[in-house]
Amino acid sequence: MNIIFLGSPGSGKGTQAKRIKDHYNILHISTGDLLREEVKQQTKQGKLADSYMSKGELIPDEVILGMLSEKLKSLKEGYILDGFPRTLQQAKSLYDILQTIDQEIDYVVYLDIALEEVKARLVARRVCNVCGEEYNLETKKPEKENVCNKCGGELIHRSDDYPEKIQTRLDSYINATAPIISYYKEQKKLITINAQQSFEMVTQDIIKNISI
Ligand code: AMP
Repeated sequence: MNIIFLGSPGSGKGTQAKRIKDHYNILHISTGDLLREEVKQQTKQGKLADSYMSKGELIPDEVILGMLSEKLKSLKEGYILDGFPRTLQQAKSLYDILQTIDQEIDYVVYLDIALEEVKARLVARRVCNVCGEEYNLETKKPEKENVCNKCGGELIHRSDDYPEKIQTRLDSYINATAPIISYYKEQKKLITINAQQSFEMVTQDIIKNISI
C-alpha cells in the first residue's frame, strides 16, 4: 500500500505518518527529514538544500526528484510519502516513476486545516534533535523543559519555524502545493480528513477511511 500525506506545513503530516506507518507496518518517507539529515551531515546535496530550506523555500523539483526516484524504485515495502509531492510537476513525475515499476499510489490523505491554526502550531513546535519526536509548547509540552520524553534528546526550534519563514512556506503551499489537491481528487484517490481535531481522532479517521 502506497499513501501520500498531503497538507500544509503544521497540518500534522509527520505526526500522523509515524502513527499510521506502525498501524499498517509500512515505511515513512519524509523528504524534509531526509533533507535535514543531509544538511546535518554537510553533504554536497545538504549544503544545496540548506540554501533553500533556511529561507523556507522549496528545493527545485529536479533536485528532490533526483534524490527520491532511485529510492522509490528500490523499495519492496509499501510506504507513506510525507512532504512529497509538493508541486504538480513532482506529482506528475511521481506517476511516471511508479509506472516504470508497475506501481501506483493507492490513497492520498489530505489533512485539511485552517492556515491560522497552523501558524500557531508551527511557532510553538519543538522537535527532538535525536529521534524526531514533535512537541508543542502549548498543547504537548515535554515533561522536562527542552528534553525529549522518549529518548532524552535535546528539543530544537526548527530554523524554518519562525514567523517570517512560516509565511514563505505557507505561500509556497498555497501557490505550488494546494493545486495537487484537485489533481488527486480528479483521480478519485483523495481522502479529506479534518486535521483540526485531536491527533488521536485524526488517526482514527484516517484508518477508518483506508481499506486494505
Ligand atoms: P518539511 O519537513 O516537510 O516541512 O520540509 C522542510 C523543507 O524541506 C521545506 O520547507 C522545503 O524547503 C524542503 N522540502 C521538503 N520536501 C520538499 C519537496 N517535496 N520539494 C521541495 N522542497 C522540499
